[in-house]
Amino acid sequence: MATVNASPVPGAADELPSVDALRRAGLRVTAVRVALLETVRDGDHLGVDGVADGVRARVGHVSLQAVYEALHALTAAGLVRRIEPAGGPPRFEGRVGDNHHHLVCRSCGAVADVDCAVGEAPCLVPSDDRGFSLDEAEVIYWGLCANCSSHP
Ligand SMILES: [Zn+2]
Ligand SMILES: [Zn+2]
Repeated sequence: MATVNASPVPGAADELPSVDALRRAGLRVTAVRVALLETVRDGDHLGVDGVADGVRARVGHVSLQAVYEALHALTAAGLVRRIEPAGGPPRFEGRVGDNHHHLVCRSCGAVADVDCAVGEAPCLVPSDDRGFSLDEAEVIYWGLCANCSSHP
């Protein structure tokens, strides 16, 4: 795999420009993948339809199949994070690698980011780890968003 030394940007993959992030992840750079990563990063926990709309707005017609394939590749490479609150469709975001959590509204489905409760993964200690070596805790806080709780 190529090493990237042209960019002085240290730190997380989600701070690199899309093209560099794809290269660093060892992925072939295609217009669809670049458009998809930019769409997901600009978006706010988009669903598949929202991702497809954003990709098409950037590069023209792209089949839903191609969108799914690109989403799968970027998710597998860790450039895109997929969350799937129970009972809802999957959502995609470009904020990766920081173990942040989500607030989800039971009424309208709004999703908001919330920083890790402690600061590093896993931020929660189970009452019994059963011998597992843990590296992540996925937390969803369920409730009503500010809008829904003020207009019931
Ligand atoms: Zn709501
Ligand atoms: Zn998020």
